[in-house]
Amino acid sequence: MIKIAKFRFKHAVMNAGKSQELIRTHYNYKVKNQNVLVLTPSIDNRNGIGIISSRTGDKINANSVMPGTMRSWLTNYFDNNEEDVICILIDETQFFIKDDILAIKELAVLTKDIPVIAYGLKVDFKGELFEGSAAAIAIAEEINEIETVCAFCNSKSIMNLRFDNKGQPVREGDQIQIGDSEYKPVCHKHYIDDNVRIIV
Ligand SMILES: [Zn+2]
Repeated sequence: MIKIAKFRFKHAVMNAGKSQELIRTHYNYKVKNQNVLVLTPSIDNRNGIGIISSRTGDKINANSVMPGTMRSWLTNYFDNNEEDVICILIDETQFFIKDDILAIKELAVLTKDIPVIAYGLKVDFKGELFEGSAAAIAIAEEINEIETVCAFCNSKSIMNLRFDNKGQPVREGDQIQIGDSEYKPVCHKHYIDDNVRIIV
């Protein structure tokens, strides 16, 4: 891969293979013995703090950064690590706050000339932009989508639908609820369909 210092945001819905692509990209650098900095928000501890795993079973270690502390974390990292970072990969970008994303752009891309690839969900289960993703969309030089199909038909999936423990769609509640609910990628037609059900 050519080192072009820019911020790329790769967004997707749930289960589209974001972590899998991040892990593959990480591997491509690692086989060349290049230093890749992998960051994940500490809010996401489904797989243990600082571990990124794909549904296909691959796992890599990551630096767990608490949302809201990216500016000081990066400053500290660059002050204490001499080794050149070839690329920064960010998992679950949506859970970071706006200033975290601005800090990555300013301190890594603009100041250190390090390219960034950020992976994340664009919208929450209510169809609202996540703060971290909105910031990433605003400052990215390049935006790509990792596409997948609807869980209920073969249309392109653009929304994330939350289901309760009875398998019924949920449209109210907190934006972040990790572990307790199940999510499915859906097309817009099935997003607004109250009759969809999943087996839980
Ligand atoms: Zn559909």
